[in-house]
Amino acid sequence: MGGRFLSIGECMVELSQAGDNLLRKGFAGDTFNTAWYARACLSRDWSVDYFTALGDDPLSEEMLAFIKQADIGTDAVTRIPGGTPGLYLINLKNGERTFSYWRGMSAARQLAADADHLRRTMDAADLIYFSGITLAVLATPAQVETFLSELRRARAAGKIVAFDPNIRQRLWANKDVMLQTITDGARAASMVMPSFDDEATNFGDASVEVTIERYRSLGVANIVVKDGAAGATLDFEGVRSFAPAHEVSDVVDTTSAGDSFNGAFLARLLSGATPQDAAAFAAKAAATVIGHHGALISPDLLPLVG
Ligand code: ADP
Repeated sequence: MGGRFLSIGECMVELSQAGDNLLRKGFAGDTFNTAWYARACLSRDWSVDYFTALGDDPLSEEMLAFIKQADIGTDAVTRIPGGTPGLYLINLKNGERTFSYWRGMSAARQLAADADHLRRTMDAADLIYFSGITLAVLATPAQVETFLSELRRARAAGKIVAFDPNIRQRLWANKDVMLQTITDGARAASMVMPSFDDEATNFGDASVEVTIERYRSLGVANIVVKDGAAGATLDFEGVRSFAPAHEVSDVVDTTSAGDSFNGAFLARLLSGATPQDAAAFAAKAAATVIGHHGALISPDLLPLVG
């Protein structure tokens, strides 16, 4: 039995070095990456939708076309007159990647401006996925509150609300507000999927155990703590399990490891797999992704479901 997977956040224009002072244009962003991998791992009786706000410029049109071409629905995307998408540039120096961002004016910051539209969009979904980056880019505290209250409503209506805190300090003006908003995001969710690194750095968690207990104490029923090559620990309704990482002999690019893990995990879970089987599959998918360049690898390269 299928349904609708809805991911909400900011997809950006990605510029990467293409030699000879040339830049290559692509599109990526944490919640979009997760939608991409969910689409790749779900059967056709599931639709995958992306919700964001875009402008009415040619770049916004190109991005929409790119998303649609990936068989990801865009019907709900809000258009902001005069708006543009956010943009980032990958700098490559001696094999080290650093990122420059232009997203202060991104149309995505307005994605929660229309509460009724947000509610209708969430109402049509069975699973709603968002991240700490989704929360960080929202234009005003009032929009954060609108967004969270619609999520709480969706969760109360029985939908799965999945949240990756994806904590990026530089997107937040104030650390206390960041930690409080991430905590509020988790409280609105039925499933939290943090990366231990981020949690240790920002919440000061001494162990994966501490991270799990912190989220459990907020009332989150299902928790998946990813810890890079050290694997993932699951706590589903109090039942603990561990999914080792899949060995990767040649790590090429770790961009999107967590995003692809989340997309593959949620897809398998929605397809009826146990959390343990879903995590084993997700570890295999993430291992494949980090063995290739770029945030979005072709679905053909991913492991087969089974
Ligand atoms: P994020 O990208 O959000 O920081 P993690 O680094 O925790 O996420 O990685 C997410 C998942 O990707 C892990 O749970 C693991 O399955 C896989 N993974 C990440 N790094 C490695 C690695 N070096 N070797 C094998 N698997 C990895």
